[in-house]
Amino acid sequence: MCEKLPYYNPRIDKCLRDKIKEINRSKYFITQSSCCGHGKYPTTIVVKSGFGNFFEWYSLTPLGKRKRYFYKKDEEGYYYIPEVIEFFKILGSFLILISSKFLPGMMA
Ligand SMILES: [Zn+2]
Repeated sequence: MCEKLPYYNPRIDKCLRDKIKEINRSKYFITQSSCCGHGKYPTTIVVKSGFGNFFEWYSLTPLGKRKRYFYKKDEEGYYYIPEVIEFFKILGSFLILISSKFLPGMMA
């Protein structure tokens, strides 16, 4: 669906085209692949930095140095990045922990 598309590729999710152009205008970052998440997953853009490492643009999740297959496809055909899902799970647990410690009134 959305994997491994260079920024000029018309198959990039429409809603991400401007953002991807903007990222690629910088000489420090090159986008590798992206997916808007199609309402099911977080929007993700895989970016290669000038240092050669890969990360996801919005969550800043490091993705190691592999060359492809950042995305996995679920049983419905939607693509997601496992590390980014992990990131949001950890972030979610962290927020629950913080709010239970510091904002006890908010937790029923
Ligand atoms: Zn997509």
